[in-house]
Amino acid sequence: MLDQGYACENTYINYFPSYTAPGHTGIYTGSVPAVHGIVGNDWYQRAQKSLVYCTKDTSVRSVGGDSAVGQQSPHRLLTTTICDELRLSNNFRSKTIGIAIKDRGGILPAGHSANAAYWYDGVTGKWISSTYYMKSLPAYINAFNDKKTVDTYIKNNWNTLLKISEYWESTEDDKWYESSYANEDKPVFEHMLSKVKQSPYELIKATPFGNSMTFDFAKSVIKGDTMGRRGVTDFITVSCSSTDYVGHMFGPNSIEVEDSYIRLDRDIESFLNYLDETVGKGNYLVFLSADHGAAHAVGFNQEHHLPGEVLFEKKLEAEADSVLAFRFERKGLVLKVINQQIVLNHDLIHASKFELHDVKEFLIEHFSNAPGIQRVIDLEEVQQTTLTDWQRECLNNHYLPGRSGDVQLVFKPATLDDFQKGTTHGTNYAYDTHIPLLFYGWGVKPGKNYNKNYMMDIAPTIAALLKIQEPNGCVGKVIKGLLKE
Ligand SMILES: [Zn+2]
Repeated sequence: MLDQGYACENTYINYFPSYTAPGHTGIYTGSVPAVHGIVGNDWYQRAQKSLVYCTKDTSVRSVGGDSAVGQQSPHRLLTTTICDELRLSNNFRSKTIGIAIKDRGGILPAGHSANAAYWYDGVTGKWISSTYYMKSLPAYINAFNDKKTVDTYIKNNWNTLLKISEYWESTEDDKWYESSYANEDKPVFEHMLSKVKQSPYELIKATPFGNSMTFDFAKSVIKGDTMGRRGVTDFITVSCSSTDYVGHMFGPNSIEVEDSYIRLDRDIESFLNYLDETVGKGNYLVFLSADHGAAHAVGFNQEHHLPGEVLFEKKLEAEADSVLAFRFERKGLVLKVINQQIVLNHDLIHASKFELHDVKEFLIEHFSNAPGIQRVIDLEEVQQTTLTDWQRECLNNHYLPGRSGDVQLVFKPATLDDFQKGTTHGTNYAYDTHIPLLFYGWGVKPGKNYNKNYMMDIAPTIAALLKIQEPNGCVGKVIKGLLKE
């Protein structure tokens, strides 16, 4: 893809927070949380007075399993995706299918009018869907599930693909700041997956074999649904969730992550070869990007005298509520700290005849000098606050009243939420927001650019290549350099 495709070397995510659900949505809608509505994986939804999960939908049932894992749909997504636009462009003759281990990674890209989205049920080890899309799974998917490929992957354990001495891009294997699998003594190779006391169906998610299994499944969907060979353009979205799970456990500089990407590279090679054989070289267009990056593990940073620390949103939540209770003599003014934002109890504030502004001001003052916190910002006064253009852009692109919090806690660089071992993501610093972007195949002129491109530019560029309308909430621009004239 690097040699024969087009690389956008400087592609960024320009909104808070850089989490999975807003990332998958941003790529396929060409839009930002303020417009597409997916402001986090979870958020506090004011109209419902409750925390909600982005794709949870209790009005639908699981298809292919009976657990609640299947109760999912795109009903909270406010805009169309590029897949919806492809379907709209030809009176729904195109087939669009979304696939990922994570439900949100399959559902949000495929959009509202998708023929199907499939995700992985860690309880049963099966790929499932919901009644939003279908009444029962196609026979070929039941046949795929019956093969139980997970068992084979886990039985073979996880050793490095190459000789361990060849992993010169990572730290030595045994580090205290890496997590281990359940009942494993040390976070080192060979990881004896077959001996880990956890269901293999759940365990596979946090190994590189979760990605391999995802591509096995994607190939079976392309074959079973004859995608790309029906005389009309079809769209399959494939998200590799396991790189995220492995990254969270071991951190970006681990041998585990290096090995996972070497394996992912080979899985992609095998997938492209499969497309060459079935659809034919030159007859398909591929793009590759990421929903976010990740910070280095805090222990790794400390080892190398680099700044970085850990905060806990749960502790910040308790602290915010208790300092407000002391100042205003009222408990429960804070509903939640989530997505690096403090969500205030507007009903209680109004009932108590407090001014929302006073409550926010007090919190801003209180947290401004707290460890790990760079800035504390009233999200309704982003325009009146001294901020860099980048911070202002990211905050504006996030804010959606009804789904966002009231006060933003901007962490210091390399400050992580919760992960003392391993790592996480979610900030707007470069390690979280500088993402890969490659295009390859049909309609793509090989080359590269170093301009500042954004995640939001992907969907309108695909729309330009396909000569269809961009998604309805799109705010990105076409990356012209890659278009074959
Ligand atoms: Zn993650």
